Amino acid sequence: MLKAYQYRLYPSNAQERKLEATLETCRRWYNELLAERKTAYEERKETIGKYEQLRHVKDHKTASPWAKIVHSHVLQGVVSDLDKAFQAFFRRVKTGGKAGYPRFRGSNRFDSFGFKEYGNGFKVDGRRLRVTGIGRIAVRWHRQIEGRIKTLRLIRKASGWYACFTAEYEPTALPATGREVGVDVGIASLLTTSDGDTTPKQGWYRREQAKLRILQRRVARRSKGGSNRRKAVVALQRQHERIANQRKDFLNKQAHRLIAQYDRIAVEDLKITNMVKNRHLAKSILDAGWGSFVGRLHAKAEEAGRVVVEVNPAYTSKDCSGCGYRFEQLTLKDRWIDCPRCLLSLDRDHNAAINILKRAGNVLWELSSSIDGFSQEAAGL
Ligand SMILES: [Zn+2]
Repeated sequence: MLKAYQYRLYPSNAQERKLEATLETCRRWYNELLAERKTAYEERKETIGKYEQLRHVKDHKTASPWAKIVHSHVLQGVVSDLDKAFQAFFRRVKTGGKAGYPRFRGSNRFDSFGFKEYGNGFKVDGRRLRVTGIGRIAVRWHRQIEGRIKTLRLIRKASGWYACFTAEYEPTALPATGREVGVDVGIASLLTTSDGDTTPKQGWYRREQAKLRILQRRVARRSKGGSNRRKAVVALQRQHERIANQRKDFLNKQAHRLIAQYDRIAVEDLKITNMVKNRHLAKSILDAGWGSFVGRLHAKAEEAGRVVVEVNPAYTSKDCSGCGYRFEQLTLKDRWIDCPRCLLSLDRDHNAAINILKRAGNVLWELSSSIDGFSQEAAGL
């Protein structure tokens, strides 16, 4: 199994110049490859694929003094990145979405390059990261890497340079808890479980959003092209990055908590949720990173031998979890439900979470038999 780790880098001025130069070489190479594909198609209706372009790397290194000093894996990585952009484009064409042909990248639209083999172009060297052509870069190792490092990607962000590693490791199953849970996502509280737990109000989120608005206004006030505007833009980008990091961290913790406590977890199917619930809610769910939260939940579940099921969310809020009575008149403002038939009186999201768990019932138990076998095996039972 692969896991990603990201660390802040502290390159010296000379190293930073080399990182920037490598990025620029990659960007030009990317645009060159894209131009090649584009012309071949427009003039000769030919498709040039990844493998054909990979064969150009050697020639490119002899032809360009800039490419010469860049590791061939990095240049090959650019070919793969472009190919991925094309694959995504073809997928969108097929599914009939807004296609968007891959575009040429300007200097502020190209942010990373990568290595694919540990020990070939990069290596952890004491407390530093040795990268061919760049040097030994200082790293803030804020957490330990578990398993064997496979790849490295160097990323430029508004706040500086980062190293993103993938490492391969053997997952260990968590001991079974014998508990299951339904999770509802809402506006009042991000997550509510069928046990009635809610995530506390996120004070930091409102504070950080307020700061964001101040920075946005500052950018808008500054005149275009001036150095003050540029500074304001960087400050704004940093704030976006800061919020994204905090949110990621928060959702990661929530996913971790659920996985630790429950064997089986039921959540709403996001794709359907967006259609069923109103647009305002859909937006706040997207803002809250619900999609990446569910993704993380699945990933952690797989590691730990847990089960995650996504269910159809239709009427989970409007049906009584006690007797099935449907509250036709319920609006988003109503935070509490009182059932006239079975007299159930419950927080609206809590009721929804119970419905989600119920709906997942059969699926969960079917899946659980195979998973139980797995976790017992892993636990040596
Ligand atoms: Zn009822």
